[in-house]
Amino acid sequence: MPTLSQRISQLHASPIREILAVIQQPGMISFAGGLPSADSFPAFDMAQVPATLWQYGASEGESALREAICIELRQLNFDCTPEQVLVLSGSQQGIDLVAKLMIDTGTAVALESPTYLAALQVFRLFGARFVTLDIARPRPALDQASLCYVVPTFQNPTGGCYTHEQRKQLAQACEASGTVLFEDDPYRDLVYDACDRQPVATYLQSGSFIYQGSFSKTLAPGLRLGYLLASKDLVPYLTRLKQAADLHSNRLSQHLVLQALRDPARGERLQRLQQHYRAKRDAFTDALQWHMRGLANWQTPPGGLFFWLTLAERIDTQALLQQAIAQGVAFMPGEPFFHDGTSGLSHLRLNFSHASITDMDKGLRILRRLCEKALGIRQAG
Ligand code: PMP
Repeated sequence: MPTLSQRISQLHASPIREILAVIQQPGMISFAGGLPSADSFPAFDMAQVPATLWQYGASEGESALREAICIELRQLNFDCTPEQVLVLSGSQQGIDLVAKLMIDTGTAVALESPTYLAALQVFRLFGARFVTLDIARPRPALDQASLCYVVPTFQNPTGGCYTHEQRKQLAQACEASGTVLFEDDPYRDLVYDACDRQPVATYLQSGSFIYQGSFSKTLAPGLRLGYLLASKDLVPYLTRLKQAADLHSNRLSQHLVLQALRDPARGERLQRLQQHYRAKRDAFTDALQWHMRGLANWQTPPGGLFFWLTLAERIDTQALLQQAIAQGVAFMPGEPFFHDGTSGLSHLRLNFSHASITDMDKGLRILRRLCEKALGIRQAG
């Protein structure tokens, strides 16, 4: 075995990647990944691609795209310039760059428990120590931490959305404690019910922040494109880190995303997408009521791609997953979303956007039977 860096001992396989490998199997009903519906992808015009795109490009991203993103961010009430915008190779890259910028061994990072598991994976690799953020009372965690990572709008995995008060309070607390706010916002456009979606970072007066978004959920994840907006003090470092990571993001994807942002039919397309996902969420709610009532509790998410179930009694969800896969159903067990690895109660994260409505019913029926079996409940037939 070659001598690897010490940090590799902190590198754990991503549970979701492993499950994604299983769900490629034909006939598998997947509630596991956060995959957008394949029928939602736009028809990109590949005929109009300029030949100049095949050359190396700017690390910060194509200037026209940075400007277009900046205009959208100003509409959200950010006081920003295009120089503060960096195009990313997926918003996952933003997590990697911010971790490199902010985290040494032992650096305290405040985050909710549960939170996005691939952020935990990256922060751990760089040696982070986690402090649980209570969004109702953020100050004690923030006083201990130099970085605060949050997904305030349609959180992964819970689907939760902060209230107006919580957003303002979090911004004030970050500022008062001198903690850098890292706001991850990939789901904001997948909104089905009215709720406050004002980015927390827009409430900062002067504190340092990184706000990031993604084109994966509303356009296509295969483009591998996202962006970040950072406070001016952090931009030069993030630009150098981006340069060191991949020189620049894919220029063809940047071209396609810019066309999509300029498309006059964009607003209508987004509305259709929201209707499509809202209908799927509602169908999933009905199927859950039918199959899982009494076995689990959940809140209907006002946006995003996931239901977060809390089982009424503790079940080993890893064992449940193996049994479910054997019967052709995949889901995400809750444990990897908790930084301390324990969840008290058992949780399942179920994606509702990928499976067809027929498959939702079939898959949830299988899950119900397996839960009943685990709980020793006699099945009616
Ligand atoms: N942040 C969160 C909270 C996510 O759920 C995801 C993807 N599921 C990402 C970041 C990464 O998204 P992408 O790299 O596709 O932009």
